[in-house]
Amino acid sequence: MSRSTQLVMILSAPLALAIALWVLWPRFFPSQRDLDYVVRFDLPEVGMPVDLPRIDGPGDASRPLVVIDAGHGGFDPGAGQGDAKEKTVALRIALALRNRLLEDGGIRVALTRDADRFIALPDRPDMARRLGADLFVSIHADSADSDAARGASVYVLSEKGSSEAAERFAARENAAGRVNGVALAQTSQTVGAILLDLSQRGTQAGSTQVGELVLREMRGANLGLHRDQVQTAALAVLKAPDIPSILFETGYINNEADAQLLTSRAGQQALADAAARAIRAYFARKVGV
Ligand SMILES: [Zn+2]
Repeated sequence: MSRSTQLVMILSAPLALAIALWVLWPRFFPSQRDLDYVVRFDLPEVGMPVDLPRIDGPGDASRPLVVIDAGHGGFDPGAGQGDAKEKTVALRIALALRNRLLEDGGIRVALTRDADRFIALPDRPDMARRLGADLFVSIHADSADSDAARGASVYVLSEKGSSEAAERFAARENAAGRVNGVALAQTSQTVGAILLDLSQRGTQAGSTQVGELVLREMRGANLGLHRDQVQTAALAVLKAPDIPSILFETGYINNEADAQLLTSRAGQQALADAAARAIRAYFARKVGV
């Protein structure tokens, strides 16, 4: 190698390093601006068991266990928009309900999700079953075409909805299952078989009982009810055959008065407290908490 070639190589080395840095720098240290366009989420595999959540409360496994399920989450916002999204409202009420139950003691609690993440519909009751839960409470909020609709409702599983509105509601809620490739037809076909199971084990009676207690506590706290009776609907999230299960639809997110309640800490706490009293009354009747 001639002396002049060596000189050129030595002189060009810093230049090559500078070019390499210029090319590779954004890859390792992307600016916030570059990240604005990155959207990435992992869908859980269908049929793969999801991790089981933590159980809080007394260490005594004979104490009753309630699994609280905050509806929707992650890329599935549920009803509403802007600051008043169903997934956020449901999570806040679920967390307030967990805290209230733990503060008052005697009941074990697990949450299907404690953050803004997606869980497929069939995985939610499945978690409750695998944890050996005694009660499953799914928390939601609704929206309607008219902003006049307001108040809470409580649903239990049935093959057929108790009203046309209940069937529309079920179709909306079950739609989240489609995201993960769960066929709706498949879900509704199994509901009949599940109901047979439910009636055999008395699970349906337990679901209705806890549903009526929630309505009673809501009335007692002067929180508005949309429907005064426990509603029935073919809801995929309520299909654990051996665990009493309710869907607590806490209000209409597109109604101004309801939105006020649903999005404020005080309102979320009031709804959680009513549900907590109902859950406690249900277990008191059953096992004496
Ligand atoms: Zn919902």
